[in-house]
Amino acid sequence: MNDRHDVVQNLEATPVQSGLRLWWLGGPSYALKSPSSIVYVDPYHSGPRADDPQGFIRAIPNYVLPQDINRADLVLSTHDHTDHCDPTTINPIAERTQSLFAVAPSSAALMRGWGFDMDRARTMTPGSTLQHGDITLSAFPSNDWEDEDAAIFVLEADGKTVLIGGDTLYTETLADIGRRYKIDLAVLALARNRRDIIDKPLYLTPEELAQAARDLGAKRVLPIHWDIWLAWQEDPHQVLPHLKDSSVELVILAQGDSLAV
Ligand SMILES: [Zn+2]
Repeated sequence: MNDRHDVVQNLEATPVQSGLRLWWLGGPSYALKSPSSIVYVDPYHSGPRADDPQGFIRAIPNYVLPQDINRADLVLSTHDHTDHCDPTTINPIAERTQSLFAVAPSSAALMRGWGFDMDRARTMTPGSTLQHGDITLSAFPSNDWEDEDAAIFVLEADGKTVLIGGDTLYTETLADIGRRYKIDLAVLALARNRRDIIDKPLYLTPEELAQAARDLGAKRVLPIHWDIWLAWQEDPHQVLPHLKDSSVELVILAQGDSLAV
């Protein structure tokens, strides 16, 4: 499997004159660029993990290689699972950049355990808001399958608003967020994981993802995370029938591609 070194180079080189542009970095990871900030969300670089007994074997190349990153202004971690809070990704980004790290309470606890310099981190408890450069970030409680201190983030920059779902399952919090914000793009984790391996849903089903996007009143929804694990992969087009008669537009990206929010 070949890593792709051109995506981070491309996003660093591409100016964003207004609003926000999103680059999908495969799996749970993406970057958002505003006129004056680069924000990484759950950056995850990994080896193939070919020995993983639960099927968490990477099925796609790495699109975010920490050694390629020259600039990051803010790095987010939505929860403490390895694919969202990975020391072999986060530590080199901290060394190579001046970035601040805005992280869920569970991620903060994990990073403290690595000996991470927490002067460079902000713990985003539910209800908290951070202003950093041209980015406003607000935290809400997630409904992660395992992590009780996971976060959902709302990121606002230059008149655009993105819902950063992490791995949240369906939760009424999303309707509350929809009443408070005009969401331009909701980014949510999609996949029906193999229940003979872990007998709990880990991500949203196509139907639940569509319902979450409707509850948010999102203009557009981008399913991610459906591609990364070899034991289960999902077709994001499966979401489309569940958005019939709604005003939500389904966006499907290829890994490494970008879109204007
Ligand atoms: Zn995940």
